[in-house]
Amino acid sequence: MKLRTLAAGLLVGALALTACGKEGSPSSAGSPVSQPVAANVQVAGSPTFDTMTQRGRVVIGVKDDQPGLGFKDATTGQYSGFDIDIARLVAAQLGYGVDKIDFKTVPSAAREDAISRGEVDYYVGTYTINDKRKERVSFAGPYFVAGQGLLVRKDESDITGPQTLMGKKVCSVTGSTPIQRVRDQGLTEPGNIVEFQTYTQCVDQLLNKQVDVVTTDDAILKGYASQQPDQLKVVGETFSQEPYGIGLNKDDAALRGKINDILQAAYDDGTWQTIYDNTLGKSGSPASPPALQRY
Ligand code: GLU
Repeated sequence: MKLRTLAAGLLVGALALTACGKEGSPSSAGSPVSQPVAANVQVAGSPTFDTMTQRGRVVIGVKDDQPGLGFKDATTGQYSGFDIDIARLVAAQLGYGVDKIDFKTVPSAAREDAISRGEVDYYVGTYTINDKRKERVSFAGPYFVAGQGLLVRKDESDITGPQTLMGKKVCSVTGSTPIQRVRDQGLTEPGNIVEFQTYTQCVDQLLNKQVDVVTTDDAILKGYASQQPDQLKVVGETFSQEPYGIGLNKDDAALRGKINDILQAAYDDGTWQTIYDNTLGKSGSPASPPALQRY
């Protein structure tokens, strides 16, 4: 573990040196999509942007165990995925290249706390926009719309949709919208709901036959299925709409407006499409950018 941390540190150091040497050039080392870094950015009236300026770095909350979305390679320490590239795009347009980004892993249940306490400047990690969360944080976006789905073992034939979960052990993550939906709609008995901090833990339980099904957004589940196609499959139609937002401080309307402008520009000039096609789109489902919800 220590060695790994050291190796990751060396790599980050090396990347930082490379980026310093090529100031103003595309600086998305390790990422499939290179982003030019904007110069002299101002976001008037944004306390978060002022904090970033003082620090000289941006701290972005992410997931690190969701392949295709937010994933950290244990060997190289490199982050990859659609959410990561959206996070980097926003950082670049705010003036922060990859060498000035600190990714911080924050699980679903801790997001509102991390954002409202200022532990992250913004959060990009399969974060559904909803009214309950808007009481504590605000959202730019959406930048993608997923839907709740089901992941089962390859040999499973009983589970085909949300109405087939009764009597089955259903795993999901604490503080997520999918686990809440299983409860609210009584899709299985309360005693059959198993919850963890991460979806990786649920997938391990599924492979070990401790649970029968993992439920969350289809985009997340497809990532796990594509890693172990001989053991896992996604079944049925999606049964919710999960618009992904960039979570940020509730009172920072200036930053929200700026990030929405950044997203709109990326929708219009094809950058979003390139990012999608290089990450999530590789699973074979085409998508186009959703309409922003300005508020
Ligand atoms: N998008 C859902 C949510 O925000 C599920 C994925 C997650 O837990 O990040 O709760």
